[in-house]
Amino acid sequence: MKVITSVPEWKALRPKLPASLGLIPTMGFLHEGHLALVRRARAENEAAVAWIFVNPKQFGQGEDFTTYPRDIERDLHLLEGERVDYVLAPTVEGVYGPGFQTYVNVEELSKPLEGVTRPGHFRGVATVVAKMFCLTQPRRAYFGQKDAQQCAVVKRMTEDLGLLLEVVVCPTVREPDGLAMSSRNVYLQPGEREAATVLYRALQGVAQAFRAGERRTENLRQLLLATVASEPLGTVDYAAVTDPETFAAIERLGARGLALLAVKFGKTRLIDNIELTP
Ligand code: AMP
Repeated sequence: MKVITSVPEWKALRPKLPASLGLIPTMGFLHEGHLALVRRARAENEAAVAWIFVNPKQFGQGEDFTTYPRDIERDLHLLEGERVDYVLAPTVEGVYGPGFQTYVNVEELSKPLEGVTRPGHFRGVATVVAKMFCLTQPRRAYFGQKDAQQCAVVKRMTEDLGLLLEVVVCPTVREPDGLAMSSRNVYLQPGEREAATVLYRALQGVAQAFRAGERRTENLRQLLLATVASEPLGTVDYAAVTDPETFAAIERLGARGLALLAVKFGKTRLIDNIELTP
């Protein structure tokens, strides 16, 4: 496994690598959710490159950029175990050099939900992902369904800019009690950790109601809110039931839908979602 931190070094290397490169973009502090993406990338491509970069441009004022968990040695050890070929772990200056001023904005999809609580977040995400795609020129890039709106933003950008790669969305990997794996789970205090299972319980309740025939989004949303309200340590940031493609607020769902939650436990904000299928 070759670890590269210098962007010029990577640029010199890329032309020598296979066209069928699988990219796994991450902010590090890896867990089984990330490793599932890594395994799939390895299986489906000639070589796999993991990107580790805590992207300052996707964190807002007062968010956790400086305290975001980091452990590069542990990450490299895990990636070595998965037989990843390349790790690209650039510095902030390497990605955003002096005079940097080019941004990518996916206009409508960036506005609701995460975009309300975290203005500018998806502009930062789309910008870094565009840069990463340009630098690595992957055949396929692997993302997790846990960040459903991010997947939609990245897919839209890829289509809109005519990028020649496939965006592969992989299922959410969960702890045995249903909590979606997340680097931020380490922030949870012991009582909060148990309480955090309420996200998955609430989402499952809605998936069940959908299967039983409920299509009115407001009823499904109220069900989400009622379940989360049963957990005093959790404070809802948003609860939404939307069209899975557009994330638009609609009154009734069709054949499919998406239920999403953002809930705070103390200082830790967790997100999760479930696809609604008959
Ligand atoms: P992050 O390091 O949190 O930015 O995540 C990097 C990638 O891993 C993103 O595409 C995430 O959606 C994905 N990911 C994070 N957590 C999970 C999970 N529990 N299951 C599947 N994918 C995940």
